[in-house]
Amino acid sequence: MEATLAKEAKQNIKGGAFLIESSDAASVYTPEQQNEEQKMFQQMAREFVQKEVHPHVIRIDKGDHDLVVDLLNKAGELGILGASLPEEYGGMGVNFNTDSYLSEEIGQSNSFGVAVAAHTGIGTLPILYYGTEEQKQKYLPGLATGQLKAAYCLTEPGSGSDALAAKTKATLSEDGSHYVIEGQKMWITNSGFADIFIVFAQVDGDKFTGFIVPAESENISLGAEEDKLGIKGSSTRQVFFQGVKVPAENLLGEIGKGHKIAFNVLNIGRYKLCAMVTGGSKAVTTNAIKYANEREQFKTAIANFGAIQHKLANMGIRTWISESATYRTSGLINDRIEDLKETGMSGWEAKLVAAEDYAVECAILKVLGSEVLDYCVDENVQVHGGNGFSEEYPAARAFRDARINRIFEGTNEINRLLAVGMLLRKAMKNELDLFTPAKAIQKELTSVPSFGQNGTIGFLASEMKAVETAKKAILLVAGAAAQKFMKDIDKEQEIMMFAADMLIEVFAAESGILRAQRIAADQGEEAAALYADIAKVYLNETLENVHSNGKEAVMAFAEGDEMKFMLMGLKRFTKAEPFNTVAARRRIAKKLVDNNEYCL
Ligand SMILES: Cc1cc2nc3c(=O)[nH]c(=O)nc-3n(C[C@H](O)[C@H](O)[C@H](O)COP(=O)(O)OP(=O)(O)OC[C@H]3O[C@@H](n4cnc5c(N)ncnc54)[C@H](O)[C@@H]3O)c2cc1C
Repeated sequence: MEATLAKEAKQNIKGGAFLIESSDAASVYTPEQQNEEQKMFQQMAREFVQKEVHPHVIRIDKGDHDLVVDLLNKAGELGILGASLPEEYGGMGVNFNTDSYLSEEIGQSNSFGVAVAAHTGIGTLPILYYGTEEQKQKYLPGLATGQLKAAYCLTEPGSGSDALAAKTKATLSEDGSHYVIEGQKMWITNSGFADIFIVFAQVDGDKFTGFIVPAESENISLGAEEDKLGIKGSSTRQVFFQGVKVPAENLLGEIGKGHKIAFNVLNIGRYKLCAMVTGGSKAVTTNAIKYANEREQFKTAIANFGAIQHKLANMGIRTWISESATYRTSGLINDRIEDLKETGMSGWEAKLVAAEDYAVECAILKVLGSEVLDYCVDENVQVHGGNGFSEEYPAARAFRDARINRIFEGTNEINRLLAVGMLLRKAMKNELDLFTPAKAIQKELTSVPSFGQNGTIGFLASEMKAVETAKKAILLVAGAAAQKFMKDIDKEQEIMMFAADMLIEVFAAESGILRAQRIAADQGEEAAALYADIAKVYLNETLENVHSNGKEAVMAFAEGDEMKFMLMGLKRFTKAEPFNTVAARRRIAKKLVDNNEYCL
């Protein structure tokens, strides 16, 4: 690897191709490359959250939605709500990477962050991506400033994950001037104060279609606020449409193409959720570190105990890895947007296409980020002992608030199935050649294994080689399962889940190694030493997990000699070099404890 890396090098690896291609640290985007403008932007968002939101978290958590509305207005004035919207519609037109830093900060504001995300994401983007020019001019400037607040009505009592099975109907009037909407939506974020609803309904019985529905329309009524486990400051109600007349010009996109709106908006939503929860994981890790430094037992701070250091280090490691995967993907999408813009595509159109290209990575990130946050909030409660179980401390609220992230924007089961399903579909459509390497791997298994990590000179080179080899384990298992079940692979959900976990772990581990390599190249190997520790500890777990998930999958569909052959292959492809993870975690914990905050 070269000592210095070309900063402007672009990553041109296609969506999902990380599984079969090597990525180059020289082109990976990492938070260390943040520019001055992005720093200022992030700082502005941080100050807003710290000064305006944090002092009121208890009021917000008690369901003071008037305060949430005031804060949304303030966020709008600062440009936070319209940051990523094009300037011609009143936004700031910041690029994808800059927006990621903003999401990270907003992700540290508990319930309020959910209100912002629903408004700026699922509430606003359908109009930006699928609205007519007239609709964009009419609604986007108000949504950018917060003068208008938006909510997104997809879910119904009978249709959640199976969103297209919605029963809400929209019937065109005889004179063609308006639609009449009848139906019931459930779990609608921001519904208590929204000015507009993005509503999905079936036209002519089965043409799933989007509409922009002003909240002031007659015959809309709201259910009571849901009594939720967490994010209590976020307004969540049922919305009833009982003969609601909507002007025909409020149709969003094309009749029968509502699924495109619903699903494409979710790609970006999943990416952003990961950026937000990564911010949340940092905040929670800081909370745990501070408590561990303050709390004394047996005449010493509990931060001095190895068991606590182990937890703090793991929180830091997983958060840093999740951050690495987030910004790696941010850079990929950002680069793709720029490439598409050069072909003459508008910025917003390019963003939509780019997010769709990296839909596999977006699904991976959604699962990774939300499960890292859940790990962190759980360990934070544990570090707090009894106080973690008390609402007097923020650990309990963070624990409750985090849980929703595994449920919305597609549950983590759905996202796991999607990640693997999309990859296999790309392979079947010959968009991604997974089957040739999968067959080559089967052949490789019949050859004599080479011992040691050949050709592995350089910073974390043998670790990178181990990741590349672990990818073979995924291809081995997924390739054999796809061969066996063909199109019915979708019905073998447990195998899909095991494959998804292997995929997620490998993407995450590789992202960490690439980032540490980039730091070493830009700042020197000494500066990157602790990041190498992080990457190695995570890799060690990844190899174990890839092996155990692969083993369970293989044992479910292979028998006899074929099974033995594949299990032998899995073992060979997930071999870890001995590494003292306890000592590494202690070094990581020391850095966190000495700084009294997340500082990686
Ligand atoms: C606080 C909150 C805010 C929300 N905000 C909004 C909003 O603003 N707008 C909106 O439209 N919706 C919103 N939702 C709804 C949310 O998107 C859904 O709850 C989610 O999609 C899951 O749907 P469901 O609750 O019906 O669960 P179900 O779909 O019934 O799922 C139940 C379980 O079965 C699993 N499952 C379902 N299908 C499959 C399958 N094919 N294979 C394997 N497992 C499966 C799920 O993973 C889950 O574990 C919100 C929900 C909550 C709780």
